[in-house]
Amino acid sequence: YPTGMLAVDPEEVVRMHTSSGTTGRPTAIFHTRQDIENWAEIMARCLAMAGATSKDIFQNMTGYGLFTGGLGLHYGAERLGMWTIPAGAGNTARQIMLMKDFHVTVIHATPSYAMHIAERMLSEGEDPKTLGLKIGVLGAEPYTEEMRLKLQDIYGFKVFNSYGLSEMNGPGVAFECTYQNGMHVWEDSYIVEIIDPNTLEPCKPGEVGELVMTTLRRTAQPIIRYRTRDLTRIIPGECPCGRKHARLDRMIGRSDDMLIVRGVNVFPSQIEEVLMKHEWVGGNYVIHLTTIGAMDEMAVKVEISKTAFDGSIETLRKLRDQLQRQLREQVGFNVHVEVMEPGSLPASEGKAKRVIDERERR
Ligand code: ADP
Ligand code: ZN
Repeated sequence: YPTGMLAVDPEEVVRMHTSSGTTGRPTAIFHTRQDIENWAEIMARCLAMAGATSKDIFQNMTGYGLFTGGLGLHYGAERLGMWTIPAGAGNTARQIMLMKDFHVTVIHATPSYAMHIAERMLSEGEDPKTLGLKIGVLGAEPYTEEMRLKLQDIYGFKVFNSYGLSEMNGPGVAFECTYQNGMHVWEDSYIVEIIDPNTLEPCKPGEVGELVMTTLRRTAQPIIRYRTRDLTRIIPGECPCGRKHARLDRMIGRSDDMLIVRGVNVFPSQIEEVLMKHEWVGGNYVIHLTTIGAMDEMAVKVEISKTAFDGSIETLRKLRDQLQRQLREQVGFNVHVEVMEPGSLPASEGKAKRVIDERERR
């Protein structure tokens, strides 16, 4: 950092991005004109693979700027010939207005922000289905199959998982086809390997491990065997769509997302899986870790959904008990559940922060 990884004459660089720095200091990534062209091409392929065409109207709801989700999707959407609206992140009222006024059919957002918009509409007595969206391109953060189903149900559209990281360009690395059964990685542009993060040995086919990637078409900053820290597996077998590009399974999270609570390994996605199975649970939640006495305590705060709640305390209590029971079954220790009014938890416009760890370091 900053420019030690640059592999061409600085004159050839036309763009720079950085990772969002979720795990510390951001990494600077450089692109030549050809790199930008190639990125736009694989991004356009992703959108086409999900069924989008030049007839679609596309609203991009992620941040433009150093974050790759804005310009990355933008160039791909234009390449495909879509009517592209660079809405950027935030300003929910304007997002809703633009979707309505321009009859948007495809959106790109983080799953947490897509959920936030839906809940805002519901709280204002509007039905997100009336927007007439067809495709939700959702990614940049981990989410569960249960969250996908909830979002599909609320909007009445199909959700496609989109994976990428700045070090490998950003979005466009892996994406779902219409079968929605794992994300095809563009193997003409990347080599994928799955390794055991402890021994660094390759995993057996189909086994979960850390995703390691190599760029094949990048000129300004080629990267060999980059450890993504993301945990997933390559889905064995071929996709019914006929594409030969390998499929990555939904990310379990990053190896550093794993929480160790009372000696038990827990991924936030395991908690989400339990929560999102319930229709009455809204889309937002927070996992709060504290120390009580000498013990780790896990509390999960969930919002009730705006449509499914009858307003009675008795219902709330039943729902809480039910969740506490199911979470204990999932993780093996007692989890305290707090059910809250819709809109009580902080909403995110980009990557959601799901875990607050306030445990004492011993
Ligand atoms: P940072 O690494 O600083 O967050 P990036 O913006 O490059 O910066 O984010 C890339 C990371 O975001 C990936 O390594 C992965 O952890 C996460 N991510 C991106 N897309 C997905 C997805 N579809 N599912 C799960 N995690 C994702
Ligand atoms: Zn496929």
